[in-house]
Amino acid sequence: MTDPDCLFCKIVTGDIPADIVYENDNVVAFRDINPQAPTHVLVIPRQHIATINNLEAADAETVGNLYWAAKEIAAAEGVAEAGYRVVMNCNAAAGQAVFHIHLHVLGGRDLGWPPG
Ligand code: AMP
Ligand code: ZN
Repeated sequence: MTDPDCLFCKIVTGDIPADIVYENDNVVAFRDINPQAPTHVLVIPRQHIATINNLEAADAETVGNLYWAAKEIAAAEGVAEAGYRVVMNCNAAAGQAVFHIHLHVLGGRDLGWPPG
């Protein structure tokens, strides 16, 4: 459920501080420490799941909860109408650096496509 060596689990438990913008029973969302856009929020499940590759069928609702929170955050940040991007990196080639799944919610500027 929680990995004592995981940075984002420590944010969930409050052992490491974060600028939390949204939380409910399932997810915690906080501002990225190195923002790549005016709005850059990370949405994580309270449950520790290392990567997309580790998802099991029973995790479907957990993943859905991440997207629900992303929608709420985009509205609260005022980027919903203009548009925003929600992305999750998986493993090294995609640049995943923290191995506790997280959605990046990016908005507040025009976002190039395709991403690098
Ligand atoms: P990824 O490369 O998809 O694994 O994304 C990890 C993200 O976590 C990066 O955008 C980092 O800037 C961000 N990050 C790392 N440590 C922290 C932290 N303590 N608080 C907030 N964001 C963090
Ligand atoms: Zn974790």
